[in-house]
This record gives sequence, C-alpha cells and structure tokens, in this order.
Amino acid sequence: MNFKGFYGNERAKAYLSAAFARNSIPHALLIAGEPGIGKKTLADIIARALVCTGENAPCESCDACYKSANRSHPDIIRLGTEDESVKVDEIRALKRDALLRPNDGERKVYIIDHAEAMTHQAQDAFLKILEEPPLFTFFIILCYNLCDLLPTIVSRAAHISLSPLSDTDMLRVIDERLPGISAEKRDLLVQTSGGVCTFLVDEKNKEFTDAAEILAGALISRDEFEIFKAVSALEKRERDAVVSILNELIIIIRDACVISSGALSTLISRADKKYAENIAAVYSPKACCEIIDSATQASASCLRNIGVSHLTGSLICKLADIAAKAVSKG
Ligand SMILES: [Zn+2]
Repeated sequence: MNFKGFYGNERAKAYLSAAFARNSIPHALLIAGEPGIGKKTLADIIARALVCTGENAPCESCDACYKSANRSHPDIIRLGTEDESVKVDEIRALKRDALLRPNDGERKVYIIDHAEAMTHQAQDAFLKILEEPPLFTFFIILCYNLCDLLPTIVSRAAHISLSPLSDTDMLRVIDERLPGISAEKRDLLVQTSGGVCTFLVDEKNKEFTDAAEILAGALISRDEFEIFKAVSALEKRERDAVVSILNELIIIIRDACVISSGALSTLISRADKKYAENIAAVYSPKACCEIIDSATQASASCLRNIGVSHLTGSLICKLADIAAKAVSKG
C-alpha cells in the first residue's frame, strides 16, 4: 500500500497494508488521535486506496486516483467539519445513500470527521447502518477522543490510534508541505510542534491570506496587468487552495463594503484592514458587490470541477472590467 504523504505510525501502516493485501478491509475503521496528528491524511489515503483500480493502491495514476486527488470522486463522501458536527438528518440521508450501489467502481467510502462532536441521537442513527453495512460500503470515522463515542460504535469498528511524529518525520512533513521556509523557522516548528501538525493549518491560512492580499492589491492598483498576474497565479494552486484564497478575498471586499457604508472601520479587526480601506477608497459598494459576485462564481466553478485555467480567465475579464469602470468614474 502506498502511504505517500503520511509519515511515522509504522504499526498502523503495517496493519492497513496487511488488511489490503488480504482484501479483508474492515467496513468501519476508527482513527483516533489529537488534532493535527494526521487522521485526515490517513483517512484520505485509505479512501483513495479503497476506490483505486491500480496496483499498490492508491496508485496515483488510475482514473479513480485522479478523481480522488481532485476531491471529485463520487464514491468518497466526506461529512463533518471542525465548525459543524454531523447532524442526525445527515446521518439519516447517509443511511439511505449507503445502501445504493457505488457510482463509479466497486466501493463507496464515507469519511466522518469530528465524530466526537456528533450528538447521541446522531450516533444512535449511525449505529443502525454500522451494524449491517452493505458489502460495498466502508466508513472511516475520525475522532479526537474515543470516550465521546457510544461504546456500541467503538466496538463495531477496527481501531487505529495515531502517535506524534518523530523530529525526523516532522522535518519531512515540513519540507513537503511548506517548501521554501527558512532553516530557522523549520527548526523552530520542529521544536515546538510536539510531533503534531496543527501549525500547518495556521501556516496554510496565512499563505491564503497573503495570496488574497495580492489579489486585493491588484484590484487597488486598477492595473489590468497586475490583475492578470495576481489571478493567473491561482492556476498553479490546488483546487481547495483556490477556493480558500477566493473566500479570503471575499472577506476583504465585504469589509470594504462595511467601511464604504460609513460604519466605523474599527469594527473590522482583521490585520489586513488596510486592504479593505484602500478597496473602499477605489470601489463603490456596487462595484464591491460585483467583485464579490465574480469571486463567488469562480469559487463555485472551482468546486464544480471546472478547469482552474478556465475560471481564472473568466475572473480576469470580470475583475479588469470592474476596475476599468472604477477608473472612468474617477
Ligand atoms: Zn489508483
């Protein structure tokens, strides 16, 4: 089995490799461990391996692997986020959906994140399908603390407990996920990480904010070439990153609308307030709404799997047009 991108935790890897080799993969896997320890990374690998049609799954070259890498595989379904636990209605929908045959291949996989935050009612509903899942259905349940799950759920799943990474493995993660950071920063992150990767979320968010500020800066300049450069830079990024950057841009423009409406800019606490203030100085609230519309449409297209280069092309035209109108208005 191919665990590219998942480091350490040799026992878990050996267990999964053996299960895949024997083709006796448990229908419910429960991955436990503290935030940032790699639960989602491992769940993604297992889900990809379950739908992969190549050798040494996930092979990264078959059609299923291509789709799962793009997060567009119809048989890998993700539920639950940090902000919102899985609701009982979603579990009821899952129970109906889990009985239907997979769309593409032989298996379908549900990844249930933050299972510890599910209400007892939702867990009870989930238990029903966990007791007798169809042969083609697999569940990967992620949780911080097993104690928050019903014992009946815990007892129906095979457990994988993840451990913090060694310094050597942590260095490999940092080199892979944060290429180009300084040696001092790299050493500091290793020393302070405690073997878990929670800092990666902050680093990634900062990177998205920086990219959104470049887009905002280009809009402030009203220069067509600057807009072209800033938007085209998105083409080198992954789909999820493009969505996150556009969402950050939308927040900056929304803040600009708040400022334009005459509200005190002290209401806006973000560090990038100066971008919102400068946008408000250049663009009318109506123009701000047009920018938000264009960014929202681009973000939605991205989620619908439309090619990133196609959507950036359309976004460049729209933003350049809005910027040109702002200029002529003086
Ligand atoms: Zn594959």
